[in-house]
Amino acid sequence: MRKILVVGAGQSGLQLALGLQSHGYEVTLMSNRTADEIRTGRVMSTQCMFHTALQHERDLQLNFWESQAPRIEGLGVSVAAPGSFDPGPSQRAIDWVGRLDGYAQSVDQRVKMAGWMETFAQRGGQLVIHGAAVSDLDYFARTYDLVLVSAGKGELVSMFGRDASRSPYTQPQRALAVAYVHGLGPRPEHPEFDAVRCNLVPGVGELFVMPTYTLSGRADILFWEGIPGGPLDVFQGVKDPAEHLSLTLELMERFTPWEYARATKVELTDAGGTLSGRYTPTVRTPVGRLPGGGLVLGVADVVVANDPITGQGSNSAAKCAASYLDSILGHGDKEFDEAWMRATFERYWDTAQHVTKWTNAMLGPPPEHVLNLIGAAGELQPAADRFANGFDDPADFENFFYEPEKTGAYLASVAGG
Ligand SMILES: Cc1cc2nc3c(=O)[nH]c(=O)nc-3n(C[C@H](O)[C@H](O)[C@H](O)COP(=O)(O)OP(=O)(O)OC[C@H]3O[C@@H](n4cnc5c(N)ncnc54)[C@H](O)[C@@H]3O)c2cc1C
Repeated sequence: MRKILVVGAGQSGLQLALGLQSHGYEVTLMSNRTADEIRTGRVMSTQCMFHTALQHERDLQLNFWESQAPRIEGLGVSVAAPGSFDPGPSQRAIDWVGRLDGYAQSVDQRVKMAGWMETFAQRGGQLVIHGAAVSDLDYFARTYDLVLVSAGKGELVSMFGRDASRSPYTQPQRALAVAYVHGLGPRPEHPEFDAVRCNLVPGVGELFVMPTYTLSGRADILFWEGIPGGPLDVFQGVKDPAEHLSLTLELMERFTPWEYARATKVELTDAGGTLSGRYTPTVRTPVGRLPGGGLVLGVADVVVANDPITGQGSNSAAKCAASYLDSILGHGDKEFDEAWMRATFERYWDTAQHVTKWTNAMLGPPPEHVLNLIGAAGELQPAADRFANGFDDPADFENFFYEPEKTGAYLASVAGG
């Protein structure tokens, strides 16, 4: 059977390794951390995944936590009224929730990756705990039929050149700060169902609030995305988790008091329940050439890393893994040459390009027609629902989001209907 090396045990690497294993491939998985180190370490993401991505996991029977994880049935948007965070009563200019056609879920990657890694080993997969360097890959490219690099945003990305034509940004566009908490109060707007709530604070950043399933059961995530240099960009250098949480809450009280009102009794889920950082959204060329001439194929975040403002990276990693799995199975016993690697990536890019385009658009100040769309969704439930379902299938934004004429025609058609 064909021998495949997967470097990096995140969403994409583990999904691919387990998928290939189930089809009888001889798979080696290299991870720089053990399952226990992952489980007892720091949170890595907010990892909200929508229907299509969750279905890829179900197809491989890897949905181990589906019955425990909260079902996220809606996606809400609130926009702070301009000037509302000056002293005095704050209000929302916009507030609505769209219903998702299929529910979303967030399973703490510490739970999922540790569990999947153990499953891979129990099923006879070869698990190697080692932080791979380029020199290691040089050797392995000669001994494996295919080497897949799914090492996220780590150092191995240096093997893959930046694709300037697909990467408009050269700097991080948001400072990120995540806190996992227990004790968040019920949501007054729609207590009967769970939703991801996107709170937009114009000119300042965004607060995302979402339910998750973590090591200690159900929890909620408070996730600030701050415009660099602005008032939310204050988490750099904060090492103490308790200080991180109190900063998160102070900013909520000031900029999103309607969310703060639910958060007065929260506590961190665990000492690893906070994360902060920033990175530049980047699309890379998919084929890495090793010093010895061997070739490796980049997977998911290695080749397409978007800002998490649209919550797409894990979704994209699942879609990339599913697409690559299909390309590998379809290639049979033929050589995994450079042409195949490029074609495999371009097939994934057919989907990924929509994610990148939409995410990059959401990072900039919204043009007037987008403001109109978000505002109108408060009056027109079908527009709210369609926007929410765009998180599952961002290609749909082509039909009503980017061009003022299409947005206008769409809103007119819903208002008329
Ligand atoms: C704050 C934040 C919030 C987010 N929220 C969401 C969200 O709500 N929804 C969503 O869909 N996405 C979200 N994302 C993005 C998502 O987490 C990532 O895009 C996704 O995890 C990428 O999967 P991956 O498999 O490409 O890489 P990763 O998940 O990063 O996995 C890579 C793995 O490789 C390992 N590794 C690295 N270098 C080496 C090496 N040299 N040798 C061996 N192993 C190595 C790493 O330790 C890691 O385990 C968020 C990201 C952040 C930072």
